[in-house]
Amino acid sequence: MEKSKFSRRSFFKLAATAVAVVPLLTKVTSSLAADSCPTTGPAGKAIANPLEGMGKTLQYVVDAKTSKNPKFKAGSKCGTCKFYNAAKADGGYAPCTMMGMKYVTNCGWCTSFAAKA
Ligand code: SF4
Repeated sequence: MEKSKFSRRSFFKLAATAVAVVPLLTKVTSSLAADSCPTTGPAGKAIANPLEGMGKTLQYVVDAKTSKNPKFKAGSKCGTCKFYNAAKADGGYAPCTMMGMKYVTNCGWCTSFAAKA
């Protein structure tokens, strides 16, 4: 009878590695999800456009980290702004009072940003 190449010791090494790696992967994937910006607005909703109307006037950007405006402070974004109507959020977008209730992405930013109280 041939002895198995997969010993009990190998099994426990593999199990210990899996126990160590799974929580790490969970942490990495959840942090990526938190950092990712939605790329497509909700179907059938008016989406704010950075290149025209209030979007242009208020220098709206869909990714706050790309703003070159001197008023921008790291960490500020639509999702934490008092004008972001989170109760009507849909797929990472929500209507913004300052954008005439057009939908903005939760990680966007504009010069009217005001932190939620
Ligand atoms: S007013 Fe607030 S929610 Fe609206 S686009 Fe500007 S930063 Fe985003």
